[in-house]
Amino acid sequence: MTSQPSSPLPSSVEQNPDYKTLLESTRAIPWKIDWATMQFAYIGPQIEPLLGWTTESWISAQDWAARIHEEDRERVVNFCIGQSKQGVDHEADYRALTADGRYVWIRDVVHVLRNAAGETEALIGFMFDISERKKTEEALVALQRRLEEYSFKDGLTGVANRRMFDTVLAREWSQAQRSQQPLSLILLDIDFFKQYNDHYGHVQGDECLKQVATALTGAAVRPRDFLARFGGEEFVFVLPETDKAGARRIAERCRAVIQQQQIVHARSTVGPFLTISLGVGTVVPAQADRAVDFVARVDQWLYRAKQGGRDRIASGEG
Ligand code: GH3
Ligand code: MG
Ligand code: MG
Repeated sequence: MTSQPSSPLPSSVEQNPDYKTLLESTRAIPWKIDWATMQFAYIGPQIEPLLGWTTESWISAQDWAARIHEEDRERVVNFCIGQSKQGVDHEADYRALTADGRYVWIRDVVHVLRNAAGETEALIGFMFDISERKKTEEALVALQRRLEEYSFKDGLTGVANRRMFDTVLAREWSQAQRSQQPLSLILLDIDFFKQYNDHYGHVQGDECLKQVATALTGAAVRPRDFLARFGGEEFVFVLPETDKAGARRIAERCRAVIQQQQIVHARSTVGPFLTISLGVGTVVPAQADRAVDFVARVDQWLYRAKQGGRDRIASGEG
């Protein structure tokens, strides 16, 4: 095997100057890796202006993997190896390290070359610089977030958002101060959701959040009961004219409806399915009391539930 990057082009291409010109003038960067040795047989000279690494420095697939952003590396390398082993063409987006320490978003489109016996022989591919596209995507996400702030509905789950929660709580707080009826709050947080995302990916994480929100919607039924996404993987119920026992019952119903979903969570240490922890508080607010302090106390109860082992409810006097 003499095909080193220094004798860069496959002989068939070398013999045809038109192919060579074509390959080396396109903005996509062609490359070839020999599957048996995992060595680069070729990489287009366009790689150098884009990433700063010389063509000679791309010797093996290790060099490629080492120049992938740490946060993308495991996902991309495992995916590409898996697909290549099965002989499946594929593509992957990742951040590639430049020689001067920056990152450039790359889309790598890979074709698997197989021999007559169907065994993988080589990978050939094109790297595309997609940093402009990514910038546009990021700008759109930021814009969507700003728009969400101006609306009252959480864009992902469809339940009320944090802004609406603040409005409703302020209204119910004043109402409870006047009526001197108990006001309850349930703060709940998905257990080990970071691990869920890490294990199943962000897209499925989002689906999970939607499912949880939908399930929770059915847990409280009185007309003034109010559910919102408090943030991230946390939800909150405002329960007017609900005493401690009543709030506790609704919290138990929340736990039960999530249990019934049987959302498989392989990385949870409390059980095979996704669980939630809940903090519950009840208060009859005096004139001088502030809603923010009440929320902070309920958050403490939620913290207590987490500390106690998760998948449980902790409650106390407002
Ligand atoms: P704990 O049991 O202590 O609550 O652990 P946790 O992993 O659930 O808590 P942590 O606060 O460490 O992680 C929350 C995770 O929720 C991290 C974040 O990536 C994820 N998350 C927050 N918002 C979203 C979202 O909109 N979509 C997805 N997919 N994940 C989200
Ligand atoms: Mg949380
Ligand atoms: Mg959590």
